[in-house]
Amino acid sequence: MLVNKTNKVDNNYVPDNLILTDSIYKNNIYLNNKCFEMFKKLQKDMKRLDYNIDIMSGYRSYKYQEKIYNKLVHDKGLSYASRAVATPGSSEHQTGLAIDICVYKNDKCYIEHDLIDMKEINYLHKNIHKYGFILRYPFGKEEITGYNYEPWHIRYVGDISKYLYKNNLTLEEYYQKKLDK
Ligand SMILES: [Zn+2]
Repeated sequence: MLVNKTNKVDNNYVPDNLILTDSIYKNNIYLNNKCFEMFKKLQKDMKRLDYNIDIMSGYRSYKYQEKIYNKLVHDKGLSYASRAVATPGSSEHQTGLAIDICVYKNDKCYIEHDLIDMKEINYLHKNIHKYGFILRYPFGKEEITGYNYEPWHIRYVGDISKYLYKNNLTLEEYYQKKLDK
C-alpha cells in the first residue's frame, strides 16, 4: 500500500488488525498486528546488543493527523509544515504500518533529529529489511518522497523490504517501476 501526497487514504479509513502495543514511551499506541510482531522481534534482537528502541508513534487517525498538521502550520508556516508532516489523509501513520522509533540511552530518550548518527539508529537502518521494514524517507531521496530525511520513520512492507534495501529504492520508485513494466 502506497500512501503519500498524491495517494491519499479516505478520511474514514481505519485499518483492520490494529492492536495495542506495549510502548513504554507512550500509552495507547496502536499498530497493525504483523507490523508490531516484527517490531518486537527487531526490538528483542537489538536489546541483545544493548540497543534499546521503542515506539514513539504508530497508528494515527485522520482526525489526529489533522490536529498535528494544523498545529505545525500555525506554529511554523505552510511551507515548513508541508515537508515535515503529512497532510491529513496522506500520512502513512493512518495505515498502522508506520512507526516512529525512539532510542533509550543513559536514562534519556532520543527522538527525531537527535537520532542522527547514533549507532543504534545506524544499526537499525542496516538491519530493518530483515524484519520487513524500510527506512521510508531516506537521506538523498527527498525529491522523490517529498519529505525531509527522517531517520526515525520506518515502514512495514513485508517481503519486498529486502529487494528495496538491496536496490536502494523508495516505495515511490518501486511502484513507478511496476507501472513502467
Ligand atoms: Zn512518522
